[in-house]
Amino acid sequence: MPNVIVRLLNDRFSLVFPQHCLGCGRELFSAHKIICYSCELDLPMTYFHLQQGRKLKDKMGLDPKIKEVFSLYFFNENGRIESLLYELKYKGNQRVGHFFGQKLA
Ligand SMILES: [Zn+2]
Repeated sequence: MPNVIVRLLNDRFSLVFPQHCLGCGRELFSAHKIICYSCELDLPMTYFHLQQGRKLKDKMGLDPKIKEVFSLYFFNENGRIESLLYELKYKGNQRVGHFFGQKLA
């Protein structure tokens, strides 16, 4: 089925069963999202991928067999990242995994 049709069906589905932002609880306008734009902009990005010099792996003093380590976001206790990780790890919300995968890609 073409992606446009799937997207339209999902958006119609969200009219009947609205999705809510996992960050703030506001209603989302697209069934494909897990958090709203405002919450997404507030996620604490590390920007480690833009840094020159010592890499995160070196800073952490990990086993030399590990070739690379990457962290997209900082973890703050009781923050949105913790909520999203909880949703993924303990509730099995695959949409959160898809979200993180897209961000990492
Ligand atoms: Zn939100």
